[in-house]
Amino acid sequence: MEEIIEKANYCLNCKIKPCSQNGCPLGNNIPEFIKLVKEEKYKEAYNALSETTVLQAVCGRICPHKKQCQGSCVRGIKSEPVSIGDIEAYVGDKAIENNYNLFNNIENSKKRVAIIGGGPSGLTCAAFLAKQGAKVTIYERYNYLGGLLVYGIPEFRLPKDIVKNTIQKILDLGVQVEYNKELGKNLKLEELEKEYDVIFLSFGANKSVKMGVEGEELNGVYGGNELLEYNEHPNYIGKTIAVIGGGNVAMDCARTIKRLGAKEVKVIYRRAEEQMPAEEKEIKEAKEEGIEFLFQNNIVKIIGNKKVEKVELIKTELIKKEGETRLSPVNIEGSNYIIDIDYIVMALGSKPAEFVQNLGLELNKWGNIAINEKGQTSNPRIFAGGDIAGIKGTVAWAAKSGRDIAYEIMK
Ligand code: SF4
Repeated sequence: MEEIIEKANYCLNCKIKPCSQNGCPLGNNIPEFIKLVKEEKYKEAYNALSETTVLQAVCGRICPHKKQCQGSCVRGIKSEPVSIGDIEAYVGDKAIENNYNLFNNIENSKKRVAIIGGGPSGLTCAAFLAKQGAKVTIYERYNYLGGLLVYGIPEFRLPKDIVKNTIQKILDLGVQVEYNKELGKNLKLEELEKEYDVIFLSFGANKSVKMGVEGEELNGVYGGNELLEYNEHPNYIGKTIAVIGGGNVAMDCARTIKRLGAKEVKVIYRRAEEQMPAEEKEIKEAKEEGIEFLFQNNIVKIIGNKKVEKVELIKTELIKKEGETRLSPVNIEGSNYIIDIDYIVMALGSKPAEFVQNLGLELNKWGNIAINEKGQTSNPRIFAGGDIAGIKGTVAWAAKSGRDIAYEIMK
């Protein structure tokens, strides 16, 4: 506790709140909740956070704080920023420990809303709808809630108990859940439309994107999202694995695979380290765990007879291209080389599953469900948020879309 108070006391409680306004996607009132922590008023600090978020203990642990709130903290200009994430996680944990209610006032409404998908966006939408009195049912394809918070983020980054207890607070608001229900299988939009006033789609877009290189169809090439989601891994013991990509999914895959006994794990990224989208902390920890990074390397082809045996790489240089804000990697001619590899994991990004094309809703040019500024799809009674609507890929951005749409739905 003393350590947390010390961290809170380092905050200047700035009036202009750059951490909240420029940094936090959810717009959490950071100086206010930190001020309450300084006074050891944890319940009040939790209430202050609950105005804008229901995932305190989760976001406190897994948000890319350096790129969000802490990246905008004025303390960070000359020195280290305030440890906002640690303080938020502490308050979220206190709420779990002491059974604080998520909301003190619940309004009244007769509206009925179905939410499809119980990940960060769906759960946050459910909570803020319930706060406004709506009768909410979440339809979830697994027999547990949480989505990528459970299957996409390893236990060492986000303990499952924390997720479970955070979700319980949302269910305590009276939110109902139908488990093992999946659109395109045993759930139909038309039937839900008859039963509910509004439907909110928040089932994510978790299919790994492919690179389109030769040899990608060989056995031993896996999608990073699928590996984490289904948790079905080959035997890595004594093997060398290449993970392609530079985001948090790449880091989570690399670190999980190393823990499962791989001899060597190499992360291959075509840009430089400072351009990696993964959290600095994740990269540092991955290095400490013995993961090797091949920066400024691109894949030319995957080589093998039925199964992956080798990979041909080429080195890249970074150049400024007209009209582009960041440096672009360009292959250096003649710098090709080949390394032995047993398995390859593609962690380059995600896209929606194919069944989305058959929902009768308009899609945007990236294949996500098209929405207007209110989150409404081409069917005005159906809203969509989070990854499936192409919202920026962090948990906090998905949660923000769920929250904002909950208010739009009730309008
Ligand atoms: Fe505190 Fe930093 Fe936010 Fe200022 S910018 S209120 S010091 S967390």
